[in-house]
Amino acid sequence: MERASSIIREGYVVAFTGAGISTASGIPDYRGPNGLWKRFDPRDFTIDVFLSDPKRYWARRLERKKNAGFDPLKASPNPAHTALTDLQQMGLLREIITQNTDGLHQKAKSTRVVELHGNANQCVCIDCGRKYPTLWAEEIAEKIGDPPLCSECNRPLKPDVVLFGEQLNSLSMELASQAVTNCRSVLVVGTTASVYPASIFPRIAKRSGAKLLEINQEPTELTDKIADLSILGDCSEILPELLSGLRE
Ligand code: ZN
Repeated sequence: MERASSIIREGYVVAFTGAGISTASGIPDYRGPNGLWKRFDPRDFTIDVFLSDPKRYWARRLERKKNAGFDPLKASPNPAHTALTDLQQMGLLREIITQNTDGLHQKAKSTRVVELHGNANQCVCIDCGRKYPTLWAEEIAEKIGDPPLCSECNRPLKPDVVLFGEQLNSLSMELASQAVTNCRSVLVVGTTASVYPASIFPRIAKRSGAKLLEINQEPTELTDKIADLSILGDCSEILPELLSGLRE
């Protein structure tokens, strides 16, 4: 903990977060042993399915939501998210690069959040770029049994997330790249940093001379290799503890 504090105290920290930061908010890891992708077929949620048969895509999506037993759109931030907001307000943490689409960093009032995989709280028209709340779009889809449409161009709305087979947004990639190239350290939280291409960012940071500090339940590919320090455990307990140490 003391080593972690001294790395963070140097400032210019960038956080890199994944599913593990949101599990304490009730959102299960899609890829974990009980993850959603063990119960639902990822092949139903590709960009190709969306483009060729949006009706099927939306039907599967509503089915998945019903069977998932939770609604990530209604989740609240947990003490790990709030601790990052506090670190930002103390001027120690700069950008937050997240692989999550739950929008919980923003709900926790964090700023400078780079969402590599988009935000599931909104849907987007792939023609005009207009955005709509997902809860509203889902309600419409449920009611009419068809995909929700853009009120301007009548095209089916797409959840504003990166679907399987879809490219990551180039602006987000650029912002994340800049952040990790310029920072002094990266705080890797709740991610195994193994899903490409997001997984490149901690590695770019390391190559650019930054220190890597990771907090995760289990050891990852970074542990004992490129991470300078690994703390194993629940990030919703460790981050608040780290924060109170920094405030002393
Ligand atoms: Zn439109």
